[in-house]
Amino acid sequence: MEHDVFLNIPPKKIIVITAPSGAGKSTMVKKLMQQRIDLAFSISLTTRDKREGEIHGKHYYFVTHNEFKDRVGKGELVEHEEVYPGQFYGTLKSEIERIWSERKIALFDMDVKGAETIKKAYGNDALVIFIAPPDKETLVRRLTNRNTESKDSLKKRIKKAEQELSYQTKFDKVVVNGDFDIAFMNVKNVITNFLKQGAVAAHH
Ligand code: 5GP
Repeated sequence: MEHDVFLNIPPKKIIVITAPSGAGKSTMVKKLMQQRIDLAFSISLTTRDKREGEIHGKHYYFVTHNEFKDRVGKGELVEHEEVYPGQFYGTLKSEIERIWSERKIALFDMDVKGAETIKKAYGNDALVIFIAPPDKETLVRRLTNRNTESKDSLKKRIKKAEQELSYQTKFDKVVVNGDFDIAFMNVKNVITNFLKQGAVAAHH
């Protein structure tokens, strides 16, 4: 293509933001997307119910259990996890290809197990950042304030978040999210350093 003369082609890189739920991960991902045009959000497949305000094809691809199973069977997913009992989530190969073909860096919001799989699959081409809550009380408060879940579901999420905290040593960087602005700045710096290593072209 003509453009290639003028632009460096970014390497095929992946950035994963992972955390226990309630650590402030999705706010982080949203803000990154607003500020860095070289990142593109990888839209996952999920069987969970759509929440108010969510859009199919923007936040997730919402599918039935049968469709999910079918697509796993066809080998369309790089990784998939039953993140909560009966709720499946997975990364589509086609999403990564779409993003890379747009010359962008794929940005994922993923549970700790999925993040571990991606790190194993992509090695140094993947940067996994673990967002840690400052303490357990903050985590529980954030989950409770979110108010999108039933009581039962909230309990499950708190228990799970506690287990997930133990995964943090497996990843490239841990950023504590006490003060959001400071944490966000740290995440941005980690990403900038990672992308520099690959001599990624500057985007304007
Ligand atoms: P939520 O239901 O709150 O949107 O997401 C629940 C959890 O599933 C979050 O920890 C989120 O990061 C994770 N998740 C979202 N998409 C994927 C995916 O494609 N794979 C995996 N393994 N986890 C995902």
